[in-house]
Amino acid sequence: MKNRGYYGNYGGAFLPEILVATFDELEAEFEKIKSDPSFWREYETLMATYSCRPTPLTHAENLTRELGGAKIYIKREDLNHTGAHKANNVMGQGLLVKRMGKKRVIAETGAGQHGVATATMAAKFGFECTIYMGEVDVVRQRPNVFWMEQMGATVVPVKDGTRILKDAINEAFRDWVTHMDTTHYVLGTACGPHPFPEMVSYFQSIIGKEAREQMLAQEGRLPKRVYACVGGGSNAMGIFSGFFDDPVELVGVEAGGHGLDSGMHAARLCSDDASPGIAQGYKTYFLQDADGQMKETHSISAGLDYVGVSPILSDLYESGKVRFESATDREVVDALKLTMRKEGIIPALESSHAFARAFKEAGTLSPADAIIINQSGRGDKDIFTVADAVEDPKWKEFIKGKAEEYHA
Ligand SMILES: *Cc1c(COP(=O)(O)O)cnc(C)c1O
Repeated sequence: MKNRGYYGNYGGAFLPEILVATFDELEAEFEKIKSDPSFWREYETLMATYSCRPTPLTHAENLTRELGGAKIYIKREDLNHTGAHKANNVMGQGLLVKRMGKKRVIAETGAGQHGVATATMAAKFGFECTIYMGEVDVVRQRPNVFWMEQMGATVVPVKDGTRILKDAINEAFRDWVTHMDTTHYVLGTACGPHPFPEMVSYFQSIIGKEAREQMLAQEGRLPKRVYACVGGGSNAMGIFSGFFDDPVELVGVEAGGHGLDSGMHAARLCSDDASPGIAQGYKTYFLQDADGQMKETHSISAGLDYVGVSPILSDLYESGKVRFESATDREVVDALKLTMRKEGIIPALESSHAFARAFKEAGTLSPADAIIINQSGRGDKDIFTVADAVEDPKWKEFIKGKAEEYHA
């Protein structure tokens, strides 16, 4: 254990001895690219030619009119390759792996989005790719598993524990310990041992850099507030970091699930159900009981359903630099419906948390204020969940028909 990589009281790198040298190497390579302006240029060029960057900042005129108050802008991370901000992180790490001369990448995935993003990166760079996924998630997320395999990745169903994301993370670390020389672990969010929280935030900072410039160019002023959903915290860190030196209020929105009193949510920084602890190699707020046993979490969106949170956000929470709120499953579906209807945009259920909170607050602001909502991803992937939630009868018929086709 080393006393480094702390963000205030949080973070660190609590590692088994055998991984220390690998993390040292990673940290050294990361420091090198950070101080090399040619790396960031290469990264921007790659993202411009492979992932539609810069993504637009869209003025949501109809939502603004509907809600009254602040002028609403949406940062469109949904228009990235594979449909979310996750591309920023995996492509950045891909370039880093190339520089390190490694030939194999591994990753953990829960909902499968990070697995798909990593598999695209590996295909593009010609890396061998293994994705660890809880056995339960493999069954639940068949479409994503299908695409990962089509792109050449090996998907390993993890049969340990409760067979979900945290078990997949443990298995990925086990793999890494045995293949450190050839393999890089592409962690999916701004969590885990140092330097991952800082490194993932660094790649995601492209969102905030663009958003700030676009806001000044399109609106001639800074936003009053910026909203982002918070799972592990990477899209939030990405957009917030563009405004850390500005008088802009930053609002992180966590999964309120069935409500903060229900015990069925994934709110770490705005509920009383979480407390600081050390797990999975780093210190942060975890949803845990008094004995340090991790609690069950719930969210309508798989991407926000996580017991830990970025240690950098835990620090920003304690210092008061970011305000944390939550949105319930119901509020999220309402916000998604309104956004589809008024703007013809389909935010991911994760992103819809940020929309829900922004909608609640927009009317209390003045038309002289502008706000930005970070749309971390697109909602196409959520069709099964959303169609259930809105109880669309024609969709039910379609699913029944498909099932009958296969049984015939
Ligand atoms: C994965 C995901 C998230 C949650 O991850 P963060 O690290 O908190 O950004 C949010 N939105 C979308 C669309 C995702 O795919």
